[in-house]
Amino acid sequence: MEDCLFCKIVKGEIPCEKIFENDKVLSFRDINPLAQIHYLVIHKEHSRDLSEMSHNPEQISDIFLAIKKITTGHSLDQLGYRVFTNNGAKAGQSVFHTHFHILSDENLATKWTSNVS
Ligand code: 5GP
Ligand code: ZN
Repeated sequence: MEDCLFCKIVKGEIPCEKIFENDKVLSFRDINPLAQIHYLVIHKEHSRDLSEMSHNPEQISDIFLAIKKITTGHSLDQLGYRVFTNNGAKAGQSVFHTHFHILSDENLATKWTSNVS
């Protein structure tokens, strides 16, 4: 998509700190990290959010196979990590090219937990 920030990153029009790439998936460092390790993982085919991506479930599979490669044999294995996506502006999505966050940090279990009542 022409005006999409992450499509521009895929095309190399905007630089990124690349973590992983294959023919389908790209991962790069988040520009504003929320943890010691904060990567984004995107499919090279544009979709706006997970809900739209779910029409092409093989893309979800491509993403999670890449996450497995990114996290294997890395400090992420020892530290543990969290994977999430924000689906829609009301959930905090600010870039409308589907992306999965990988967060890893010391003591991740006590940070950003979902058990807030
Ligand atoms: P969202 O809020 O949509 O779930 O996540 C968007 C993420 O993209 C944010 O964590 C933000 O820091 C990151 N981001 C926004 N613009 C850029 C950019 O130009 N380069 C990189 N590497 N990350 C970006
Ligand atoms: Zn896009």
